[in-house]
Amino acid sequence: MLKKFKIKTFGCQMNVYDSQKICEILYKLGYKKTSIDRDSDIFLINTCHIREKAKQKLYSELGKIYKIKKNRLKNNLSTICVVAGCVAQAEGKEIFKRAPFVDIVVGSQAYHKLPSLIKNINLKLKKKLSIELDFAPKSKFDNLPKENIQKEISSYLTIQEGCNKFCKFCVVPYTRGPEYSRPVEEIINEAKILTKNGTKEIILLGQNVNAYHGVGPNKKEFNLGKLIYFLAKIKNLKRIRYMTAHPKDMHEDLFKAHKNVKKLMPFLHLPIQSGSNKILKAMNRNYTVEEYLKIINRIKKCREDIVFSSDFIIGYPGETKDDFKKTLNLIDKVKFVQSFSFIYSPRPGTTAYNLKDTIKQEEKKERLSILQNKLKSYQEDFNKNFVKKSLNVLFSNTSNEKKIQSMGYSQYMQLVRVKNKIDILGKIKNIKIKKSFYKSLEATPLI
Ligand code: SF4
Repeated sequence: MLKKFKIKTFGCQMNVYDSQKICEILYKLGYKKTSIDRDSDIFLINTCHIREKAKQKLYSELGKIYKIKKNRLKNNLSTICVVAGCVAQAEGKEIFKRAPFVDIVVGSQAYHKLPSLIKNINLKLKKKLSIELDFAPKSKFDNLPKENIQKEISSYLTIQEGCNKFCKFCVVPYTRGPEYSRPVEEIINEAKILTKNGTKEIILLGQNVNAYHGVGPNKKEFNLGKLIYFLAKIKNLKRIRYMTAHPKDMHEDLFKAHKNVKKLMPFLHLPIQSGSNKILKAMNRNYTVEEYLKIINRIKKCREDIVFSSDFIIGYPGETKDDFKKTLNLIDKVKFVQSFSFIYSPRPGTTAYNLKDTIKQEEKKERLSILQNKLKSYQEDFNKNFVKKSLNVLFSNTSNEKKIQSMGYSQYMQLVRVKNKIDILGKIKNIKIKKSFYKSLEATPLI
């Protein structure tokens, strides 16, 4: 009988990409994906370490898997439990100690070794528990399946991993290791396979995507700007995006790409974290608010209609009311159209972990709520602007009710819904907007 696996993914787009690759590995081994717990011969959790309570989340998930494993055992069915991703990397053997029923712990740079790790468990070799925490992104990418079974209209493509920046609050340099950029040829080949399978939009991913410096043709180093020019030549690829960018790594070729490559969408996620230079310095972000605003203006000169989203950390140790006000001022200047904002949470292993926290939780919550209300009003205003106007939408999802509901994203990354009589999946339509909401838009049916 066909063996099945279930996978649960936490965290960012890079984890989503990794989970897609893990699925491809398991398909190749003859497994089929399932959403039913009791059918899962392999249970895999791909973890994320960025936010607080990552560990608690993992162990609470493992508690559920333990019960499933026990129930399946009553019916003589064995279950392989795998913990992958950044928490696996950070916790390592500790996971086996706290959850002895886990069979495999595999870090974010070593999941290409899953076939042999699973084989060891299946063959009931003496080594019952398997652990792989190597930092070897090159060997990972070299050994991942090249073919692409899953077909997506909008696909992620990881071009760069790891980070050398060491922002004081961040675990990425410790869990994903130093920066690694994939060679240009490998990325172009993967992009061609994706477009051959129906992908119309590629979102280039990296922890520090614009620090990309892969080997290009003639062994010359390529940056992200140059890579985008190359990718844009793929005929059936209609849209290109990239994330997550660091302000410090915006470069001349990338500005030029925003100006000249029409396939590069006019939406950029550029995290600032705080509007206070004092806090930016304390975080080791290596840019000032003034430099950030210069970059924003520079990109706007290249592409007039470009809009921005950002990340904000509220209540970083030492943040005064005045620092917080400066963050609000910055938001007024840029008018971000989307954003992610969180209260600072200390991550074990980072340099900021032991900093004295002087701000009361209530105060932090209040600041977050003020900030989020401001961000929300800019997002709502932006969306309202488009009522009775038209947007270019790539429809990447459908659900069948009485009429077909299609969903997709505008060039500015707004979620757009429309009910049609015919399916427009995979098509880019210039569509009139009927209603606007905080986080989405509703379009007038085409037919
Ligand atoms: S640049 Fe991004 S990934 Fe790198 S340390 Fe800073 S926050 Fe983390």
